Amino acid sequence: MTDAAALPGQPRGGALSGPATARAINVLAPNPSAMTLDGTNTWIVSEPGSESAVVIDPGPLDEAHLRAVVAVAEKAGKRIALTLLTHGHPDHADGAARFAALTRTHVRALDPALRLGDEGLGAGDVITTGGLELRVVPTPGHTADSLSFHLPADRAVLTGDTVLGRGTTLVAHPDGRLGDYLDSLRRLRSLTVDDGVHTVLPGHGPVLDDAQGAVEFYLAHRASRLAQIETAVENGYRTPSEVVAHVYAAVDRSLWPAAELSVRAQLEYLREHGLI
Ligand SMILES: [Zn+2]
Repeated sequence: MTDAAALPGQPRGGALSGPATARAINVLAPNPSAMTLDGTNTWIVSEPGSESAVVIDPGPLDEAHLRAVVAVAEKAGKRIALTLLTHGHPDHADGAARFAALTRTHVRALDPALRLGDEGLGAGDVITTGGLELRVVPTPGHTADSLSFHLPADRAVLTGDTVLGRGTTLVAHPDGRLGDYLDSLRRLRSLTVDDGVHTVLPGHGPVLDDAQGAVEFYLAHRASRLAQIETAVENGYRTPSEVVAHVYAAVDRSLWPAAELSVRAQLEYLREHGLI
């Protein structure tokens, strides 16, 4: 889910179904909206030459989409061996149970309520399926249960809704917290600086080839929004809805409810840090 449409310096193209890196194929779900951009990206990830694949975020409960994911994997000579979730929002996770039934796979997620099977998923876990290596990177903030997956062999990271291919994401207050989100962005930045990650495979929108630039952009955007909100409060805009109407005046009104969640998260952060 996003909190704004395309911003300066970001790609204008849409997300595309098909191979994005040597190991990752996108199957775009047919659920486009202001909140989901082109739709949810369902990722099939596998080691070249291996018959086993991992699916990240089956997407909404849309039978044709779930079957398309299976068909794309089969066409590539792959059998889906495991399903992972970046987080529990419905546009990523609603189809997971049906998808798990279709593929006879387990579902692993941080939130125990989303799991099918007895294996959890969290910090330090490394998925090794058919020679593939995916490292779990906790990235709370969009939601408390948000995870990213580092794919070292492709110098890529699958970010779910923590970093999107276009626009910026929302901090879904009260579950999502801004302090956590900023820490997560810094964690992703260190993947780009210390581990050579240069490709973002996002949960919505196009693939980003400048991962470090994208993360820096997100950090700068968050800092400037925070400053705008601090100023708005100083100027007498007190309630979250007053702040939204003032700070997000240029943003489509259909996104204001989502923006209000982010504003609530930012007001909480400013209060906790004694800034307002
Ligand atoms: Zn989400």
